[in-house]
Amino acid sequence: EFDADEGSGATNISVVVRCRGRNQREVRDNSAVVVQTEGAKGKLVELIMGPSALSNKTYNFDRVFSQAADQSMIFDDVVKPMLDEVLTGFNCTIFAYGQTGTGKTYTMSGDMSSTFGMLSDEAGIIPRVLNALFKKLDDEEIENCVRCSFIELYNEELRDLLAPDDGPKLKIYDDNSRKNHLTTVVQGMEERHIITATDGLKWLQEGSVKRQVAATKCNDLSSRSHSVFTITVHAKRKTEDGEDYLVTGKLNLVDLAGSENIQRSGAENKRAAEAGLINKSLLTLGRVINALVDRSAHIPYRESKLTRLLQDSLGGRTKTCIIATVSPAKSNLEETLSTLEYAFRAK
Ligand code: ADP
Ligand code: MG
Repeated sequence: EFDADEGSGATNISVVVRCRGRNQREVRDNSAVVVQTEGAKGKLVELIMGPSALSNKTYNFDRVFSQAADQSMIFDDVVKPMLDEVLTGFNCTIFAYGQTGTGKTYTMSGDMSSTFGMLSDEAGIIPRVLNALFKKLDDEEIENCVRCSFIELYNEELRDLLAPDDGPKLKIYDDNSRKNHLTTVVQGMEERHIITATDGLKWLQEGSVKRQVAATKCNDLSSRSHSVFTITVHAKRKTEDGEDYLVTGKLNLVDLAGSENIQRSGAENKRAAEAGLINKSLLTLGRVINALVDRSAHIPYRESKLTRLLQDSLGGRTKTCIIATVSPAKSNLEETLSTLEYAFRAK
């Protein structure tokens, strides 16, 4: 049943762009705005490449959000429909992809605080997902079992953000227990049971603090590491005839390493990749997505830890959304161009 969609034509990958406003430094440096969008949300983004409008580049995406788009707009437009898919038994993944400093973490996590269950306006995708998920489960009185895990990947090594620092090293194994369903298991991974949105938020905050503490000690960790927050939902649903059936769905929320880690020194340079100059998981993710889009016979899931980890949630009967984050400033034009090209190829 897993491969039901194989070869059926449409891919289930959507690509959206989010452009933030200029930051203080870009304003101070008088760096011009070179990214043009169509109001808060449109479909086109134009890059001003030089003095002549003839050299401008225009890209078309499933959605393009400008700085006028707030956190709730991203959630309603992009995330809510995927949450509904999860509750019908799909495995879904949302990636934040982009240059360091363009808003990946702001988009994925944002403000994680909550006061009496109320989120901040600046709350990002994960807090909003948790709130909306439990609101739906409660409102519709759906029997459920929800779990979360939170993992960081750096230099092809996994770290469990929900486990004590001296806990066992995580290892990925192939799971051969299910025929026709090649997937992986992460040995020793903490999975926390979540009963309310507040529980989930607590684990998110706890893991994020851990990530931040480590990033402060190790300079390039924050730009070179990926984090994967996974929510697994088992729910008892009812058919129109009132019959019970069980669904299992999964939502992976991935804050990727800075895209500048793929673009420097040429993405195809194998020696640079081996020397750790290029982020192997980021590079392989691009290849996996391109192979899925091209409907290749071989999808190179096995070539990186990130793609192995997400194997059962990429391709086949799954949905994926890539949110490409960019800066509007001329000083970042080259990275913005690379980000849009990467994102465009995933369509
Ligand atoms: P990244 O994770 O891609 O390195 P961050 O999410 O840490 O980038 O964003 C860098 C800074 O810019 C943070 O201070 C963040 O709050 C701010 N920021 C990013 N995107 C937005 C946005 N759309 N609106 C307001 N502030 C933003
Ligand atoms: Mg970040």
